[in-house]
Amino acid sequence: NLKYILEKKQTMFSPGAMSNCPDRFDGYHTYNKCCRAREDTGRHRSNLQRYGEDRRAYEYWSDGDWKAAAWLMREINKAGKRGICSICGKRGKVTADHLGPISLGFSVGDPPFLRPACRSCNSGRNNRMILADIKELRKKEQDGIDVVSWHTKNIWNLLKDKPKSDEEAKIVSRLLRTNLHYVLTLLGRIAEGGHRQFLVENYLHPEYAYYSIEFLGFDPTTGNYDQIKKKRSTMRQYSRNAERYVRISLESLGQYLDKDNRKFPQEHLRDVNNFADIIIEQLDNRNQSRALNKMDKALTTFSDWLVEEFNSGIDE
Ligand SMILES: [Zn+2]
Ligand SMILES: [Zn+2]
Repeated sequence: NLKYILEKKQTMFSPGAMSNCPDRFDGYHTYNKCCRAREDTGRHRSNLQRYGEDRRAYEYWSDGDWKAAAWLMREINKAGKRGICSICGKRGKVTADHLGPISLGFSVGDPPFLRPACRSCNSGRNNRMILADIKELRKKEQDGIDVVSWHTKNIWNLLKDKPKSDEEAKIVSRLLRTNLHYVLTLLGRIAEGGHRQFLVENYLHPEYAYYSIEFLGFDPTTGNYDQIKKKRSTMRQYSRNAERYVRISLESLGQYLDKDNRKFPQEHLRDVNNFADIIIEQLDNRNQSRALNKMDKALTTFSDWLVEEFNSGIDE
């Protein structure tokens, strides 16, 4: 069944139809002899062995090029103790840090954006943004970069210009996390209801697996690079990457439902479950377009609840 989903997805996202079509990068490409020679000497094989991953991108059903992000993450983490924190400038152990936390609904980016950060700069930001983080994300957006994932667009657009202090940025972080809790609960219920295929086809991106990736001009002190070079390939290894991505994403939903989520407000849980019941019923009746509309409606409703909560919290 999973195999069928992936094959279908591959044809659906033939290079011409893909949003991250390789043509998009042609402006930067130099297909010169020296690059080709490097490709042919097995350099890609060593890239593949170094291929790591950030399970959070799967667990939180994040948008963006998860495969390129994994590669970039590995490259940044390689600096280890010899790294330089891109936030405070201190020398020491660094790890790759997402500018917008994946666990709050941000995208890994397409092309991906990650930066090296020391322990104190990194961990402090895990689930909590300060005002400067939100401003930096807004700057990226103004440069035309998509920073949030599909499930967080509504709430992000409603809240992003509201916070005026670190305290309010913290509230926004909490509300984004709550939105993602509703989303994962909804997705988990739909998967449990037997409609994994609907979720995979509409909300996951296995097609990113089918590229070899090379970053040119990579700077380990900033995580920046000049160009990303992607080449389409149907290597067996790549279909295994895609299968694994889909499998972990679906497994994570089940694990999420089993988790103790009592820290989240319980008041809207019944409404979230109602949305799930309706969507499952529509899918049972093979009414995919209605189900998609209902999914959108659910996301707007979650945002409405949370914006109301932000406004009432600020008034007090
Ligand atoms: Zn630092
Ligand atoms: Zn996709």
